[in-house]
Amino acid sequence: MITLTENEYKNRKNHIVESCSYNTVDMVKSCLCSECAKCKGNCCSNYPCTLSPREFIDINNIEYMKNVLDIGVLAIAPGNILCKYYIIRPRGSKDLDTIVTGYVEAPNSCILQGPKGCILDPLFRPTDGLLLMPERHYKEIKCVPHYSEFKVMEDWLKYQDVLRELRKIYKDKEIDMPPANEETAKKYTLAMLGCKKGTK
Ligand code: SF4
Ligand code: SF4
Repeated sequence: MITLTENEYKNRKNHIVESCSYNTVDMVKSCLCSECAKCKGNCCSNYPCTLSPREFIDINNIEYMKNVLDIGVLAIAPGNILCKYYIIRPRGSKDLDTIVTGYVEAPNSCILQGPKGCILDPLFRPTDGLLLMPERHYKEIKCVPHYSEFKVMEDWLKYQDVLRELRKIYKDKEIDMPPANEETAKKYTLAMLGCKKGTK
């Protein structure tokens, strides 16, 4: 299984997030901006954000994906209400006991939201979350999604076969929802880097 160091992963993720955005953005700044710091995640209380398939080191590697999904942090869910394609996003409080879920209406608060906001280090947060940015429009602040619904669909449509295979593996497997704490964030980070459980 391929593994990356944290710095290698972060450099790679920077490029991925840039390429997912329809605009030039400074996404680390966006996540640490004063508006988000004050708000601590109204978006996260409403619905979990979506990962880009490219933020997994090797989405076609079932062993790598099982190592990540076994932690129970992520769900395989329909990308829209019509359920025509699937995506991967963090689990929400209204999702099922399995990590394969149907379409769930908002509000469905993200399980990775702790009292101080997202428990993940900014560059390990899903691309969609990093690219939702508060922007000033005249006197109002609006949170603008720079990873568009169309781009999400275009990115995930290429990986429906592997998601079908993973859905078969996980559809009847009950996995507890992990608590929003440092230990969960650490396990998730290591798995995304490609480290097997208990290593590093
Ligand atoms: S993106 Fe918007 S809703 Fe989400 S934390 Fe930042 S200010 Fe709040
Ligand atoms: S993963 Fe983090 S940024 Fe995304 S919805 Fe959950 S708490 Fe918010």
